[in-house]
Amino acid sequence: MTRPVKELLADRIRLLGPNVSTFYDDPVHFVKAEGVWLWDADGHRYLDCYNNVPHVGHCNPRVVDAICHQARTLNTHTRYLHEGILSYIEHLTTTMDTNLDTVILTCTGSEANDIALRMAEAMTGKRGIIATDATYHGNTSLVSQLSKSNIPTVGFGLGQYFRFVEAPDSYRHPDPDGTIFAAKVADQITALEEDGIGFACLVVCPYFINEGFPDHPDGWLKPVAEVVRKAGGLLICDEVQSGFGRIGSHMWAYEKMGVVPDVVVLGKPMANGHPVGGVVANGDVVTGFRKGYRYFNTFGGNPVSCAAAMAVLQEIDDKGLVANAYSVGEYARERMDDLAARHEVIGDVRGSGLIFGAEMVKDRATKVPASEFTDRVINAMRHRGIILSRLGRYKNTLKIRPPMPFSKENAGMLFDTLETVLSETRLNP
Ligand code: PMP
Repeated sequence: MTRPVKELLADRIRLLGPNVSTFYDDPVHFVKAEGVWLWDADGHRYLDCYNNVPHVGHCNPRVVDAICHQARTLNTHTRYLHEGILSYIEHLTTTMDTNLDTVILTCTGSEANDIALRMAEAMTGKRGIIATDATYHGNTSLVSQLSKSNIPTVGFGLGQYFRFVEAPDSYRHPDPDGTIFAAKVADQITALEEDGIGFACLVVCPYFINEGFPDHPDGWLKPVAEVVRKAGGLLICDEVQSGFGRIGSHMWAYEKMGVVPDVVVLGKPMANGHPVGGVVANGDVVTGFRKGYRYFNTFGGNPVSCAAAMAVLQEIDDKGLVANAYSVGEYARERMDDLAARHEVIGDVRGSGLIFGAEMVKDRATKVPASEFTDRVINAMRHRGIILSRLGRYKNTLKIRPPMPFSKENAGMLFDTLETVLSETRLNP
């Protein structure tokens, strides 16, 4: 018999300590999953419109088989020779610009970002790091300093090296060609230089997903990349959320944004839930880093992880999942536009491929965020068997980011339910 949610919550606090968050007012207890579906302990089925870690579908048979086969054969670490890591990196790097040819594998996106920042220090001899003021890049001592909204109240005194620029917001403060953003970064580079810290890097998600995925035309990052290069810094693109074909038009969001980064950071979807992250850069950058830091990661790049990650790449190719993200994403955008025509609360529709959503506002003229309303919508959707979330500076943007095998039929179910929930949810209860 499954234990009541109340009991599980009490045990979580007792055993995991405080401040361990759960989604939803009424947390869900999932017990199994398959493809785009999840089941709770009472046997209710949910359509997963949120989770990007099971990139090629929950419990994907190819990935599960690859993990089991390798786990039965051998699992060690990178101090022994193994072909798995080599064939994986060979395959991964063929999906990227030729300049991005060398990889360090980690277990998390946080570790990968941590390495990327240290690569910038190693290459430039400087420590100044610039990011947007509404993002998240991970949880190490160094990387957690990048979450302006959540900077730790304790730490190792690293805050002095970080500067923030306002996150782009195509809805409230349009910047159609990226020059305003580039100018803001240029100002922060000057500030870092004047403070004697110097400029090492800019780190951004190229599709600014945590910031609420503003609507930017292709090539939007070109001006800022120019500013970064002119100042001798590195451009780090954190593709932890935006990568592996999520945006539908390209395998990597940096391609859509018209730049080739110095460092690409990978994580979450990389091995479909098996903990794998990575940093991709030119061999010179990796050499620079390895001269400065003797880096070894016990679990990073182990044979089982590499088998899982390889199976993900094969599944993306074989099932045409990038093309699927594109066509389902187009359909989703149409359906969202259609909803917006009937629901005043939808202020702005945004997205590319299988990252899409809409910003909820109290009033279209003033664009005042309807954050609490968005929260009620998310909770009501959960009770109707649809899993999604919200994000952005005001937490009023629906975040819809399903596993990549998500179909038009799945999208149809999502939008039919959203239509009902929007009609039933009061803006001012
Ligand atoms: N970068 C981005 C853009 C992320 O969204 C996240 C996790 N949400 C991370 C890095 C950190 O990844 P991890 O939790 O695997 O350390």
